[in-house]
Amino acid sequence: MEFRQLSSDHIDQVMGLEKELFGKEAWSKKNMLSEFVAPNSFYVGVFEGDLLGYAGLRLLPADLSGDITTIGVAKQHQGRGIGRALVQELVSRAKRSGAEQLFLEVKKSNESAIYLYESFGFEKIDIRKNYYQPSGEDAIVMRLTIHQPVVLGIESSCDETGVGIVRGNRLLANALHSSMDEHAKYGGVVPEVAARAHLEALSPTLDRALSEAGITIDQVDAIAVANGPGLAGALMVGIGAAKGLAVATGKPIYAVNHLVAHVGADVLERGAVETPTIALLVSGGHTSLLLVRDLLEDVELLGETIDDAAGEAFDKVARVLGLPYPGGPQIDRLAQSGNPSAIRFPRGLTLPKDLEEHKYDFSFSGLKTAVARYVEKAEAEGVEISKADVAASFREAVIDVLLTKALWACEEHNVKRLLLGGGVVANARLREEAKRRCDALGIELRIPRFALCTDNGAMVASLGAQLIMDGRELSGLSFGANSTLPVTQIQTL
Ligand code: ADP
Ligand code: MG
Repeated sequence: MEFRQLSSDHIDQVMGLEKELFGKEAWSKKNMLSEFVAPNSFYVGVFEGDLLGYAGLRLLPADLSGDITTIGVAKQHQGRGIGRALVQELVSRAKRSGAEQLFLEVKKSNESAIYLYESFGFEKIDIRKNYYQPSGEDAIVMRLTIHQPVVLGIESSCDETGVGIVRGNRLLANALHSSMDEHAKYGGVVPEVAARAHLEALSPTLDRALSEAGITIDQVDAIAVANGPGLAGALMVGIGAAKGLAVATGKPIYAVNHLVAHVGADVLERGAVETPTIALLVSGGHTSLLLVRDLLEDVELLGETIDDAAGEAFDKVARVLGLPYPGGPQIDRLAQSGNPSAIRFPRGLTLPKDLEEHKYDFSFSGLKTAVARYVEKAEAEGVEISKADVAASFREAVIDVLLTKALWACEEHNVKRLLLGGGVVANARLREEAKRRCDALGIELRIPRFALCTDNGAMVASLGAQLIMDGRELSGLSFGANSTLPVTQIQTL
């Protein structure tokens, strides 16, 4: 016996069985075909040369639920455990997708099927009178409650100490402490200061997360932690805490990639990350363009910054303009009253000669220098400049390059989705321009809520939960911090 996912190739075999089993109540071929290709549908057949049985599942990711839509086993093969194997297949598929509840309807007279479902833990919850037509038979509605893993995630890759808790794809808590104020006097994140701040913040942030989720540590099923990329010393603090917790409580631990977790955060918004997607991650530490074909399996780095990160460029230019750290919000505010086309600042790595090697890479140091020159020259010549125009023109240059390259990637890889993440997403002009350009190209734009865009523990917990739901191995205790962990390494064992 062999399981195969059903497609239009199998339609004649499926319709043959469907008619044999359901007679007048059989679905039409057209309906069956549309079910096979519907989004979030999963139809599977059992073969032994011929098709012996089939079953279907429709998932509703945003509701964290699913429906078993049909199940049938050829009469001469009933009693061989094929129905049980099909239900098992659908239940495990639903579990892996993060569903918390699974529903089905069954004929009231079909006692053996009801017994089978009960053996999986389905309960009778309702009755639908005259549900089956034309027979007029009643349907029993049954529900399976699925316990998804409760995962606590720790993130400490930069200046945020994040502890998040999820149950499957559901967000339970997202506690955060930021040491940003401590870095302000240095004009940027100082690794040693960040590491020390994590040490102080971890325990109280953990307590806050547990109380926000309304659970105790005993109710957590597993620990997840970001082991890179990021600042090595800062990562080590989170990793040490996660390992300590795992050892003290006997819970399994999962080491996950911080950047891939940013993409996975969208699961917490709508129950699934739709793939393939291009992801643009822009923060004070990273500017990365990813092609995500499968969140747990296949993430490719298309390009990244070869010098400053986008947020870092905002911070440095703010300094040039005499504005405090962090510069992003300051420049954003000043830019509101400026003219974005007043000064034509350079767009790094967009010239034809750059495109061969650096089509999807970014460079912001030339832009930063251009702004500094512009300001210095004006000062030397005693010319009054509009700082608002400088801020607006600078902001426009950054946004233009980021979105131009992200949308090139969508076009080249024929991907109709773009996901944004990272602290620079706070920039309203970036969001507005992304929306405008994506709409014009028919590309779906996803921007998770801001608390899930910046570094946070919930996204780490969520990626850990997805690994667990997918049945992945746990990580062991020998992994360490890897400041340059590649995005291809989604989990470190
Ligand atoms: P990291 O922790 O990697 O430094 P975060 O995700 O915490 O990055 O984001 C902080 C960065 O985002 C800072 O560089 C900050 O200047 C930038 N930033 C914050 N708000 C804005 C904004 N409105 N516009 C542009 N950049 C912003
Ligand atoms: Mg930060």
